[in-house]
Amino acid sequence: MKNTVRHVVILGGGTAGWISAAMLVQFLGADTRISLVESSRIGTIGVGEATIPTIKTLNSSLDLGEQHFIRQVDATFKLGIQFEGWGGKDSLYMHTFGEVGKDQSFCPFHHYVLRARLAGKDVDLWDYSLNYQAARRHLFAPVRSGPDMPAMDYAYHFDAALYANYLRDYAVSKGVERIDAVVESVRTDPESGHVTQLHLDNDDTLGGDLFIDCSGFRALLIEQTLGVKFIDWDHWLPCDRAVAVQSGKLASLPPYTRSIAHPGGWQWQIPLQSRTGNGLVYSSREYSDDQARAILESGIDGDATTDYNLIRFRVGVRERPWHKNVVAVGLSGGFLEPLESTSIHLVHSALLRLIWCFPHQGISRFEVDEFNRQVRHEWAQIRDFIIAHYHLNNRDDSELWRHCASMELSHELAHKISLYRETGKLLRECEALFGIPSWLQVLEGQGVRPGECHPIAAATALEEVDDMLARLRQSISRPIGAMPSHAQFIGMLA
Ligand code: FAD
Repeated sequence: MKNTVRHVVILGGGTAGWISAAMLVQFLGADTRISLVESSRIGTIGVGEATIPTIKTLNSSLDLGEQHFIRQVDATFKLGIQFEGWGGKDSLYMHTFGEVGKDQSFCPFHHYVLRARLAGKDVDLWDYSLNYQAARRHLFAPVRSGPDMPAMDYAYHFDAALYANYLRDYAVSKGVERIDAVVESVRTDPESGHVTQLHLDNDDTLGGDLFIDCSGFRALLIEQTLGVKFIDWDHWLPCDRAVAVQSGKLASLPPYTRSIAHPGGWQWQIPLQSRTGNGLVYSSREYSDDQARAILESGIDGDATTDYNLIRFRVGVRERPWHKNVVAVGLSGGFLEPLESTSIHLVHSALLRLIWCFPHQGISRFEVDEFNRQVRHEWAQIRDFIIAHYHLNNRDDSELWRHCASMELSHELAHKISLYRETGKLLRECEALFGIPSWLQVLEGQGVRPGECHPIAAATALEEVDDMLARLRQSISRPIGAMPSHAQFIGMLA
């Protein structure tokens, strides 16, 4: 068949390129030739250190042992993200990955919290999160869930360059051909418009049947060659730049990312075993690059150990991430600011979809359309989750926050917030990445207080609710009392 895929060419060897190579070689096996071109002269973006729990699924699908991985990539454990100053200037809350409380038959847990509150009690949602109780004390050890024990979940922080190298060694050992060269030009078929060959600076050419564009913000194939449009979301997410720098390791290793709001953006702090990743995401309408750098410099713990890396970006997604025989994965496919650390997950999920739709027998319009529809849907859901953090703010200290508080939301997001505010109800969208505990913590943390609880919870006697809450607090206190510090736990693995 004309378009049968026997040779996949990946352009780019950042996190996206090497995740793509590792997953494709693992799932397609020896029948499909896989080549990856990267350029040590061009380099990678050099950020992307915080993840969400799906990273564990990715690693285990590649049979990567956790202990080995932790040692190789300078990793630490991540129980959630601490948001500082997001709801209002002095607010502080955590979006943790675990369960919050335990759902009772037919009724989500948080309705019992609302029930108690509506009866005048002062109940803190995070008293029922094992993740939070461990995180705030800088403790870590996995705990099994049970009838009175909320499930714990975690992700990792790691050195993005080491992770890409780790996957490179994995993929190359399984047969991926690696070429270090600059792609100077791209040839397309005049009839079909498909990419046929990459011309390299070493005078070689590389032909292929399917091309994965992992060339980062350059988007060499999907945009520069095929001209696929970019859908801009800057009217919802006004930050368009970041400055990043590394510093020494933190004295006590927090098992969470910090996200600290500033008038013109927000700052991240990502603790690794041997160093700390820092950055400021900001709007160029609020800060000049020099101002941003100065704000970051005064906000980091200790001294900078690297140069300051300035990054410009556009927030949005490709109209058609898969077009003709090019699939854009990673930064070439789109970008959502790293507030919820979702980019590496989006690379993983794009590859899963590509593997499910893999065009062994030739590229079909139906598979391409389905891939594109699902990618756009997933991105829009995550986009709305990020927007909720910005929109639900009580800050009045800059045009950025005022704009975000008053901006018009997508219908889906406006509906979700109103439903929660009016009724306390949160329902998970089919296959949405962020489920009820995530939305609950962010809406609560950003100050939304529902006026009602579910009738099942409302009909439960207050004493019964009190007993249930006390039982949960007691169950959580047991493993917390015996848990090693995060640093001790890492020490046991290293
Ligand atoms: P890059 O790393 O830019 O790699 C591009 C590759 O293409 C390189 O190997 C380069 O050599 C190659 N290339 C380009 N042009 C050519 C050419 N002509 N010839 C040959 N090779 C070429 N994600 C998260 O999941 N968590 C985070 O905490 C996070 N934080 C971020 C913070 C910021 C400020 C930014 C901007 C992004 C962040 N991300 C984060 C996203 C994450 O960094 C990326 O999704 C991830 O690194 C993938 O990048 P990439 O591989 O697509 O591109």
